[in-house]
Amino acid sequence: MFKLRFRQIHLDFHTSEQIPGIGSRFDPEEFAETLARARVNSVTAFSKCHHGLIYHETRFEARHPHLQRNLLKEQIDACHARDIRVPIYISVGFDEFMARRHPEWLEVDGNGRRSGAAPLQPGWHKLCFNSPYLDYVLEQTLEVMELFAPVDGFFFDIIGQGQCHCPFCLDSMRQEGLNPEEEADRLRFAKRVVDRFKRRFTAAIRERSADCSIFYNSGHIYPDWRPILDTYTHLELESLPSGGWGYLHFPLTVRYARTLGFDYLAMTGKFHKSWGDFSSYKNLPALEYDCFTALAYGAKCSVGDQLHPTGQLSRATYDLIGAVYRQVEAKEPWCDDVVPEVEIGLFNPEAVGNADARVDTSAAGAQRMLTEGHHQFDVIDAANDWSRYRVILLPDKIPMTEEIRGKVAEYLAGGGSLITSYESGMGPDKRGFVIPGMPAGFIEPAEFSPDFVVARDPLAEALGDAEQVMYDRGILLKPAADAEVLADIWNPYFNRTWEHFCSHSHTPCERPSGAPAVVQRGRIIQFAHPIFAMYQRHGVRAYKQMVLSALARLLPDPLVKTDAPSTAHLTVNRQPEQRRSVLHILHYIPERRANTLDTIEDVIPLYHLRVALKREQEPARVYLAPSGDEVACTYRDGYAEVVVPEVRGHQMVVFED
Ligand SMILES: [Zn+2]
Repeated sequence: MFKLRFRQIHLDFHTSEQIPGIGSRFDPEEFAETLARARVNSVTAFSKCHHGLIYHETRFEARHPHLQRNLLKEQIDACHARDIRVPIYISVGFDEFMARRHPEWLEVDGNGRRSGAAPLQPGWHKLCFNSPYLDYVLEQTLEVMELFAPVDGFFFDIIGQGQCHCPFCLDSMRQEGLNPEEEADRLRFAKRVVDRFKRRFTAAIRERSADCSIFYNSGHIYPDWRPILDTYTHLELESLPSGGWGYLHFPLTVRYARTLGFDYLAMTGKFHKSWGDFSSYKNLPALEYDCFTALAYGAKCSVGDQLHPTGQLSRATYDLIGAVYRQVEAKEPWCDDVVPEVEIGLFNPEAVGNADARVDTSAAGAQRMLTEGHHQFDVIDAANDWSRYRVILLPDKIPMTEEIRGKVAEYLAGGGSLITSYESGMGPDKRGFVIPGMPAGFIEPAEFSPDFVVARDPLAEALGDAEQVMYDRGILLKPAADAEVLADIWNPYFNRTWEHFCSHSHTPCERPSGAPAVVQRGRIIQFAHPIFAMYQRHGVRAYKQMVLSALARLLPDPLVKTDAPSTAHLTVNRQPEQRRSVLHILHYIPERRANTLDTIEDVIPLYHLRVALKREQEPARVYLAPSGDEVACTYRDGYAEVVVPEVRGHQMVVFED
């Protein structure tokens, strides 16, 4: 497996042709020294940018018109002299130089409009991956391989294809027996075009280099990459919390990406907002959070920056990055060659084409519940090995294709436990549940909404006996004769309509509906409402408590027990070779401090945190890392219990076998 370095920079350099003096203040020694001082050991540097301009000697016309030196060559030589790796960046989907010369190579939408910024607007244009443009990108890539042999690696950016209606695509679709009038065919073709691009480029690169790294970036890790993953050497998870991805994207995506069998990194940015945000600086605790979260999930770190047109790195930026990377370096021995210790699998709605956004609402709600409850879980699809999970969650809208149904049945037969909600577990036609042993059958969508839940004894400890409003519509279930109802649905007097309404909001609760809200049969617990998306949409703590209480019935002895607050995130990584497990405790609280973005400004320390980690035997030694301070450990009932004296942002606790 290709191994990534821990402390990387992704050094953007999209630089307008109208800016003079490109690289005029570049000093190779100062450049490499600045990186080395910030403890950087890999920097992704630019061959060709989104402007389509090239930053080194080249036979192509697109050399930046004001480039004053052989910039990339000098960057590589200076970095290599200090053992800093330099993967090479090539922009594929955006290339303004070629977009202007060959507008016929742009993607075209269904109305004949060329993709990207309007004629009088600034911004990029998207080139079609089925046009002759790709021949040019390949030739340019191969020139880079000759000029800089042996290259460390490639980072190809803006890898994607929309539903293109350009003449090349219409012709190709017809030739391949696809109907351009059908959206499904256009999508299938677009995917095919991108897959072919990856196959073609990896094959051409591999003819010339057996081992350089290759990554194709689309700003996310998509489940439909599985059949094409052999064209990658590793995964880079671009996710700038303040740059549109949000704080939920990385943890959710990495929990899936880490199951795919590659080394992987977390790419954040040093920017206050997002890419291209010159002369802005992320708060130090926010950058610490991004990098230490990467470590907690077994990822390497990459911080995005953009080089000034003069070629000089910003001292303030590398003081900031250095302050975090020195800490990362000290933590690395406990973060390398790790496998997560997990016991829950959360089925990824993206894998069945049901995600409603890049961060799906139901998956986000499930992630919040499990993380706030300090549970250890992966995000999975039907291709994973499910035998390592004690409980699997099918959130809200996971239809049972033949493949998934078979997988679920086999998992249940092997003793696994299942939590389903709303329509998960139904066949694709949504006419009924098809999982063997489901606690309840489907009658129809609920007539009343909002309705109410009243807990029975098994859930009453968490919920109390008060009715709880359920804001989104559920389904009417008929429990099996041998199923146990854990909570009931109560109905309002009537739905709020023009004919009858009451007060400012939903109608009050009146009577039991006779239908269950939560029902258990054996090792399956079923919810009538889309409880996971509801938690993400409405933030009602009781929704989380319902799920966590149900989960506790199936998983009474979770891997981690703690009195930590819900703002603390706990993960456990195993280092098999060192025969030890590393518990990561993160306590940073993202806060909405502007209309459109969340950030972290302060570290709020926690003291005397009680954590019990399930172990088969008493640990030989428990200590804090990287300080090495020993921690007293009590071993009882299969748990090694410690009191962590202080968590100042991030603390690792090492349990040696
Ligand atoms: Zn096209």
